Amino acid sequence: MIEIKSLSKSYNLDKQIVHALKDISVSIDKGDVFGIIGLSGAGKSTLIRCLAALVAPSSGTIFFHGQDIAKLANEQLRDFRKNIGMIFQHFNLLTSRTVAENIAYPLEITGSKDKEKRVDELLALVGLSGKKHAYPSQLSGGEKQRVGIARALATNPEVLLCDEATSALDPKTTREILNLLKSINKHLGVTIVLITHSMEVIKQICTKVAVIEKGQIVEEGLVANVFADPQHVTTKQFLQNSSHEIPPEFFKKPSPNRKLLRLCFKGEVAGEPIISELVRKFNVDANILLGWIDRLQTTTIGTLVIELMGTPEGIQSALKYFSEKSVQYEVIENDT
Ligand code: ADP
Repeated sequence: MIEIKSLSKSYNLDKQIVHALKDISVSIDKGDVFGIIGLSGAGKSTLIRCLAALVAPSSGTIFFHGQDIAKLANEQLRDFRKNIGMIFQHFNLLTSRTVAENIAYPLEITGSKDKEKRVDELLALVGLSGKKHAYPSQLSGGEKQRVGIARALATNPEVLLCDEATSALDPKTTREILNLLKSINKHLGVTIVLITHSMEVIKQICTKVAVIEKGQIVEEGLVANVFADPQHVTTKQFLQNSSHEIPPEFFKKPSPNRKLLRLCFKGEVAGEPIISELVRKFNVDANILLGWIDRLQTTTIGTLVIELMGTPEGIQSALKYFSEKSVQYEVIENDT
């Protein structure tokens, strides 16, 4: 549906050139909830603004249904804009307009008929029918974002772009808004592209993720795969910071017969008594230090941090056994 090819964007800042995006290539399919995660300054906003055709790339192409969006003009550009809704971190509502008038705004621009009926439908969709005549200043942050979502969906877009849409909200409201977005994706089939700096957001809603750093995509894939087997150091840092930091004391006590491991159990493997079998088969000891479960959109992933102790041969056999059983593992501390 969206194909980004070799996209680069540079800004000229006081005679200094800032390379915000460097040769980005990404494909987004219809129905995806595609998350782009990165630290501040990584290039997320620039990327989403290029996607919305609000910023012109320095080079590269963005295709929407096979059409180069840089070549759209007049009617085609208007159609494209109708087809792409956008919501923002600070909601960007018109303060002098009521909730209903804010939602009606894109319908006025496009000259739609049956505006009132459509506004009522959208109010019901986002659960704000009772606040139709309220002004933005009378709403909570979560309610303001609901208005933003209703407004973005007014023209029935195929794609919803979310620019740090929950960054200004508390965790409970964040969950509610993400649930609303999830339901919009599921029931209305709207493709969602979101940018965020939070792995929790990716976990709660996304099916695919791209990690962006210094203007480049350093890792990309299904959220379940990236969670189970992160490759890039930045992805690992995002995952560690997300909530399950391994306490530093676990890294102490180096000994020749000990390994600290992070194990990932995905899908069916989670139901097998792998640890007890391991202990029996290879005469090793497994000390479980930390464990948690991540419920992702498509699967559930169990993680265990264990201390494995035994003879070097026993430990090697145990690692081989993990591979045979399709349990992904990472040695997070060696015995040297
Ligand atoms: P993020 O959204 O991940 O924080 P941005 O896309 O906002 O990243 O910024 C990426 C880089 O581009 C940063 O170095 C930023 O300072 C620079 N940048 C973004 N917008 C502009 C602009 N309009 N003019 C000059 N530099 C910009």
